[in-house]
Amino acid sequence: MPRSVVTGGAGFLGSHLCERLLSEGHGVVAIDNFLTGTPANVKAFKTHPKFTLVRHDVTEEIHIPGKVDFVLHFASAASPTDYAKFGIQTLKANALGTHKTLGLAKAKKARYVLASTSEVYGDPEVNPQPESYWGHVDPVGPRSVYDEGKRFAEAMAMAYHHRHGMDVRIARLFNTYGPRLRLDDGRVIPNFIGEVLRGEPLTVYGDGRQTRSFCYVDDTIEGVWRLLVADRVEGPVNLGNPDERSVNDIAHLVQKIAGRHVGVVHHPLPPGDPKVRCPDITKARALLGWEPKVSLEDGLRRTIDTFRERIEGQT
Ligand code: UDP
Repeated sequence: MPRSVVTGGAGFLGSHLCERLLSEGHGVVAIDNFLTGTPANVKAFKTHPKFTLVRHDVTEEIHIPGKVDFVLHFASAASPTDYAKFGIQTLKANALGTHKTLGLAKAKKARYVLASTSEVYGDPEVNPQPESYWGHVDPVGPRSVYDEGKRFAEAMAMAYHHRHGMDVRIARLFNTYGPRLRLDDGRVIPNFIGEVLRGEPLTVYGDGRQTRSFCYVDDTIEGVWRLLVADRVEGPVNLGNPDERSVNDIAHLVQKIAGRHVGVVHHPLPPGDPKVRCPDITKARALLGWEPKVSLEDGLRRTIDTFRERIEGQT
């Protein structure tokens, strides 16, 4: 039985990843310090005989008895609101946490997957962004704790690859959404869904013409799985949905799908907010035979349904 260690295993992406690995027959050890993750995220499979959840901070040394075949480092705050609040923890999870998880993978002779981000491209001057684009990042800007943390993590993973011949794979994940995102996560889709369900106008930052490309979580996880099991991968791979939309489009769609018109209010654009973002997924298509399958409309419908259940469950 293959055995995987997933850091951030009680987070949004991490918990979906653990669930997928279990369904593929892996034994899974999830590590989380519950800074932004929660045990509630693993409720559906907590009692699975091949699943273990360990409370631990990945910036400290990690001890896992027995064999480990795969280490997947998914521990990090990921929403701009969270990493503004937990800046130092975010840098530590990506610097020290990447070092510790690479050390674990090296000791266990395990394959390593790093959850990196489209934020390594910063406020891009090239759209869509191919993996060969070096990015446009402000090293002291409000997003630098995350952007530079992930850039350091990529550099560290590559250094272990070159120095120790380790098999490392870097997933550059673009905006992902779906069930288990926290209602107070601060990202645009959970914010808009929470607002529409409460009957409040949607808060659009700036003029709403900035763009993002949203990938439904099942598609993202399928891409990560394929990246994990592919025979050979050189360099980072973009995983995201190239369906680029403006924030105004998202506001319109969320209201349409929720069946409720609430309008929008404009708030100032946060400093450092990228103007465009869209993945070039040529490499993932060629190497992994992967592309997203779930349309934004379908993904939003599924996400709104689960948020509605959660909000109704709270009352
Ligand atoms: N945004 C918005 N209203 C919100 C939250 C975010 O208009 O309530 C905008 C934000 O300014 C950005 C886009 O939506 O341009 C995506 O923001 P998010 O925080 O989801 O992720 P990012 O891609 O910026 O990391």
